[in-house]
Amino acid sequence: MRFDYAPAPESRSVVTLRDSYGLFIGGSFTGGSSVFKTISPATEEVLAEVTHAGPEDVDRAVAAARQAYERIWSVMPGRERGKYLFRIARLVQERARELAVLETMDNGKPIRESRDVDVPLAAAHFFYHAGWADKLGYAGFGPSPRPLGVVGQVIPWNFPLLMLAWKVAPALACGNTVVLKPAETTPLTALLFAEICQQADLPPGVVNIVTGDGSTGQSLVAHPGIDKVAFTGSTEVGKQIARACAVSGKRLTLELGGKAANVVFDDAPVDQAVEGIVNGIFFNQGHVCCAGSRLLVQESVRDEVLAALRRRMGTLRLGDPLDKNTDVGAINSRAQLDKIGELVASGEAEGASRWSAPCQLPDRGFWFPPTLFTEVSQAHRIAREEIFGPVLSVMTFRTPAEAVQKANNTPYGLSAGVWTEKGSLILWMASRLRAGVVWANTFNRFDPSSPFGGYKESGFGREGGRHGLEAYLDIAGGGDV
Ligand code: NDP
Repeated sequence: MRFDYAPAPESRSVVTLRDSYGLFIGGSFTGGSSVFKTISPATEEVLAEVTHAGPEDVDRAVAAARQAYERIWSVMPGRERGKYLFRIARLVQERARELAVLETMDNGKPIRESRDVDVPLAAAHFFYHAGWADKLGYAGFGPSPRPLGVVGQVIPWNFPLLMLAWKVAPALACGNTVVLKPAETTPLTALLFAEICQQADLPPGVVNIVTGDGSTGQSLVAHPGIDKVAFTGSTEVGKQIARACAVSGKRLTLELGGKAANVVFDDAPVDQAVEGIVNGIFFNQGHVCCAGSRLLVQESVRDEVLAALRRRMGTLRLGDPLDKNTDVGAINSRAQLDKIGELVASGEAEGASRWSAPCQLPDRGFWFPPTLFTEVSQAHRIAREEIFGPVLSVMTFRTPAEAVQKANNTPYGLSAGVWTEKGSLILWMASRLRAGVVWANTFNRFDPSSPFGGYKESGFGREGGRHGLEAYLDIAGGGDV
């Protein structure tokens, strides 16, 4: 029997959209070189006009960050910096509903996810790093580690507020000031965060937000006044940034793409594993760098797992992201939808077999149904390239050694999942999988105290935990780890 759900839309009234937004430089909103529009990917409605920062605007932002660094932030005792971070964390919590609704409107992700995952985790990152601000001398990097200076941060559109928190919280806790560029298609929660900085009385210039496209990001990472660059996004742009930063003396951390294997052994509880597979690839429409986009299932349980998976995919509700019952929201942009379509077409052309969950796609906006491919060979593009959409490639294995070999057969190395009842097998697999994070009997779990980052083409450096602090401290002279 199938239930029909009554619509349960979250109200938009909690959000006050301005017609246009300036750049946040030196503690106030200012104009820039030109403007662009940000739209809702679910409806294609224009939400607001946003300022495009040109090189001269980036210059102003870096100058404001430098001044705040030298005069205020780097000389402020850690316990005082910590108070600001606690204040920001509490304000994020107080304005959680507003942030969640705005995130969903600008990004297209289901409100259930922005409300229950993105915003609470963003607050948790500020709380966690607030706690570190006066304890850096005990973090294992020497008695009084120094900040690096002004940090340029460029973030993607898949978790706009959460990626901001991952970048801004540790940078500020360690005594750095920041200039952050959000993605072109999702600037609005970063601009609301700028208001939160004002509300928290954060000294002007400690956080600066410059909106724009790739050219703004390029001006920022190339700016000579930046001491460190932190980037999350595609491997291709990450490589360009690595080239731009080479021999500049800038410190660099890159969190790039992934093609994670989710490995299901024959003793795993099937229903639990299926929930993990669904969460691994359909959470956030698969716009997740660590998404479990390659399912490796032990051959003996392939048919059972696939039958249960198809059944479960058939119950996923795709549609209005503001509806609290929605599981799968909109694809973030037309460009991303085209990219998903192109890779899916390549899968079909190369001989893999496609199955999409039966669901009606809305007439307006950008949508793609939850999809899986079987008969996938390791050489297929859908098995090698990051699709960054709700598309799963299914392959099989017979022995643990074969599972490891197939899981590691990728240029990426960000995450992996293992499903089995045997603890010894989990440990055996975890020590052989070349991935920064290995989840056991779960997937896509995040915690600010747990370091996250990649191997190989997934980038370098860690975010979160004590390890993440290292990326924002000048420990070139030593440290005891
Ligand atoms: P990008 O890597 O291009 O974008 C990430 C951020 O970098 C955005 O803020 C972007 O600005 C900015 N940027 C773009 N070019 C430059 C540059 N030369 N120098 C500095 N900053 C730059 O990702 P896209 O949004 O274009 O997505 C393309 C593909 O990348 C996706 O299909 C997906 O496969 C992958 N991706 C992976 C992510 C991950 O976390 N692993 C995250 C996002 C994308 P703007 O948005 O304005 O162009």
